[in-house]
Amino acid sequence: MPTPHVATRERLSEVRYEIRGELARRARELEAQGHALIKLNIGNPGAFGFRAPEHMQRAIADHIHDTDPYAHQQGLPAAREAIAAHHAARGMHGVSADDVFIGNGVSELIDISLRALLDPGDEVLLPSPDYPLWSAATILNDGRPVYYRCRAEDGFLPDPDEIEALVSTHTRAIVLINPNNPTGASYPRALLERIVAIAARHGLLLMSDEIYDGITYDGARFEPLAPIAGDVPCMSFGGLSKVHRACGWRVGWALLSGDPAATRDYRHAIDLLGALRLCANVPGQFAVPAALSGLDTIGPLVAPGGRLHEARRAVAEACAASPHLELRVPDGALYAFPGVVGDAARGFDDHRFALELMETEHVLVVPGSSFNVPFRNHFRVTLLPEPEQLREVFRRIDRVLARRAAA
Ligand code: PLP
Repeated sequence: MPTPHVATRERLSEVRYEIRGELARRARELEAQGHALIKLNIGNPGAFGFRAPEHMQRAIADHIHDTDPYAHQQGLPAAREAIAAHHAARGMHGVSADDVFIGNGVSELIDISLRALLDPGDEVLLPSPDYPLWSAATILNDGRPVYYRCRAEDGFLPDPDEIEALVSTHTRAIVLINPNNPTGASYPRALLERIVAIAARHGLLLMSDEIYDGITYDGARFEPLAPIAGDVPCMSFGGLSKVHRACGWRVGWALLSGDPAATRDYRHAIDLLGALRLCANVPGQFAVPAALSGLDTIGPLVAPGGRLHEARRAVAEACAASPHLELRVPDGALYAFPGVVGDAARGFDDHRFALELMETEHVLVVPGSSFNVPFRNHFRVTLLPEPEQLREVFRRIDRVLARRAAA
């Protein structure tokens, strides 16, 4: 008897996550053959020598004996109180630990919060470019991504008129990623006010992915959405992975704000889905009060002279010096999203370029089209390597682009 074929869910064919996809697999093959690759595909601070701050490590060590039982599905009370206080400190008053949901990273909460919201055919307004988990989770929860464009010529900021024009009777939510992955754009308050007004007019849930909230450069400000949203229902996402350099601890949170009568059913739905997966990783939650205690450990890294600031400067200078590249210098987050221009851009295919760069120069980047954009001349690098390594990366990128321009 032939072994039956295991068929998979049809809609998976619509889902891509190339940050860890085919190119990353090929990179591992090259490494197994003895090649040293510079891998700029994942915003994973621990992989570039960053450590979670010591006082956070100590908090886990001190409590490791208390981490055996399941926790409440919403998370440990002390961690939730710290998260509510963190939001209060940045202007969101009237929220408490009851409004906080802790998950195994923001990733899990993105999935849960869309699963709690969507019926088949419901639409979610997503930025293009997006962080592709948002598209994937929308699709796998039977929704339909509808993209609003964030164009390079507008500083990768969205146009609220375009967002509103895309609202239909099926629209349920507007997703913002601020500061943005992959573009690094940080959204000004006036823009956020207009987007809040759209959500209010059409009865939409706001979902604000703020996982890079402490990472802004050169005076750029991060504006949290919840205080602007006020009574308008809003889920604000944050976590330990990036600002606190603890990706592997798998701790993220979401704060549900807005008129309690309007959010009552949604709150129960999130609670039920949280209960079905029992609880989030408990040891990591013990680090949350320490992480949010007020000791600023990311500030020195993003200030002039700090490693992330200098990495961003190295990338900005390399792009400015290259005849083949154009960069909208990121205001925040951990990435640069350069575009290829001029002769090198003729017939450019970001995938073929990324493959060639890896095979010939041993540098792994993510093709821009992985972020659900309709153009194919961009790529993303993370700013986490040492500045000198990034300068070397851009020398190699320029070599490949110069060959293409001359072809
Ligand atoms: N949201 C954005 C915009 C991200 O860039 C990432 C990770 O890169 C995540 C969410 C997922 O973060 P977590 O590690 O908390 O699951």
